[in-house]
Amino acid sequence: MAASDTRAGSGRRAAVIGAGPAGFYASEQLLNEGFEVDLIDMLPTPFGLVRAGVAPDHPKIKSVTRVYEKTAAREGFRFFGGIELGADIAAEELRDRYHTIVYAVGTPDDNRLGIPGEDRPGSYPATRFVAWYNGHPHFCDESFDLSARRAVVIGNGNVAVDVARMLLVAPEELAVTDTADHALEQLAAARVTEVVLLGRRGPAQAAFTNPELRELGELTRAAVDVDPAQLDLDEHSAAWLEAEGDATAKRNVEILREYASRSPNGSSHGIALRFLCSPMEILGDGEDGPVTGVRVVHNRIERTADGRLRAVPTDRVEVIECGLVLRSIGYRGRALPDVPFDEERGVIRNRGGRVCGEAGEPLPGEYVVGWIKRGPSGVIGTNKKDAADTVAKIVEDAQAGRLLEPSNADAADTAEWLIGSSTAAVEWAGWEAIDAHERDLGEGAGRPRVKLVRMSELIDVSRAGAASSRT
Ligand code: NAP
Repeated sequence: MAASDTRAGSGRRAAVIGAGPAGFYASEQLLNEGFEVDLIDMLPTPFGLVRAGVAPDHPKIKSVTRVYEKTAAREGFRFFGGIELGADIAAEELRDRYHTIVYAVGTPDDNRLGIPGEDRPGSYPATRFVAWYNGHPHFCDESFDLSARRAVVIGNGNVAVDVARMLLVAPEELAVTDTADHALEQLAAARVTEVVLLGRRGPAQAAFTNPELRELGELTRAAVDVDPAQLDLDEHSAAWLEAEGDATAKRNVEILREYASRSPNGSSHGIALRFLCSPMEILGDGEDGPVTGVRVVHNRIERTADGRLRAVPTDRVEVIECGLVLRSIGYRGRALPDVPFDEERGVIRNRGGRVCGEAGEPLPGEYVVGWIKRGPSGVIGTNKKDAADTVAKIVEDAQAGRLLEPSNADAADTAEWLIGSSTAAVEWAGWEAIDAHERDLGEGAGRPRVKLVRMSELIDVSRAGAASSRT
């Protein structure tokens, strides 16, 4: 640090926990404020959901990692992968070594429907399916029974669209992506020919965005099927769309109208978009026999006193036969040991990014960014502004003397402690070795990379690469 450096973070050290987009944007902005940053992740690989969440057939979205690589190259930045907060290291230990801690751990769990049969064989949370096809090391041994002809995807968000598309994309199109090899094989052998995408509210309230909805209509081997009657909007939806509906909702309805006007084109596969249907029960034989269908109730839209449009069940019930159910109704945060958690919202308890105790009092030096701060919403770029808002609070608190006062903030000693805390510990050079190895494997096959999916492989390659770069 230069003696003249008057930035709020100068001479101060920050631990950012979680190397996804929110963690990288927070790191970048903390570096700008003069902090030294240690970015710590449970996996030996960085980039969070950009690597393990974004669909493999969306390589352009993944190219945002180039921005994060620039952050990683900056002075004052260090990466420690393969180290899990709560298992390998404790929050209390971080409080003793850093002036500030920023939690950027995302929301790894799935919301529950809370209906009978939810956990039958053949009914899976989409979060798990996504992590599996993206080669997340904790999910590489999962298995999904893809032998059914019809699958039901519950939910109307972009994740629901992603998983529906992954079931329908032609194998030769997936083969050139970085889909994990185990998933490529099983998806190629899948027998699913029809996906029913189920929304509990109407077309005007769907959560998916326009490009994602449009992609469903562009699948090479699957026709999109929308019953025109569903586009006769109820009075509340029509009035809302006209007066308050945003551009995305209006465009979604237009796209759906165009889909409804299409005639069957003889495609081998299909995707049916069904609205105003809530699942009541996942059906199957006996208590825990495999999925045979979903009992749904038809809904109507009602306007609540506070102006929201909600789904209200009618007395019309229907069974949709299927052998596979993917539940895609949003992610949920998981509590970290010794870090306050808001059970109701499923996020770390915070006020505008400052972690708070039960009475709402801010804990000195502890902050939160991304989905574990505000809940699982928005696109990758949303996290940049979100991180800036939190970092502005850190700067304010640094100037007011409200950060932590670590007893051992020595950078070299902390690196030694972190690396010694886990047999899976990997630094940035180790990740670069993994990255180069995966890209090499991909090159011959015309793929961006072939992902290593086992912790042992990732660690071996990172160690070998780091050792060869030292010699
Ligand atoms: P989401 O956008 O919040 O969508 C969740 C869906 O689940 C909504 O349609 C919601 O309906 C429905 N739902 C919730 N509870 C339900 C229940 N009990 N029964 C039936 N349906 C229920 O969540 P997401 O799809 O997980 O996406 C998370 C975020 O990541 C979003 O911001 C998304 O845009 C983003 N993302 C972006 C991309 C991309 O840019 N390509 C890809 C993937 C994800 P209601 O509206 O009625 O609550």
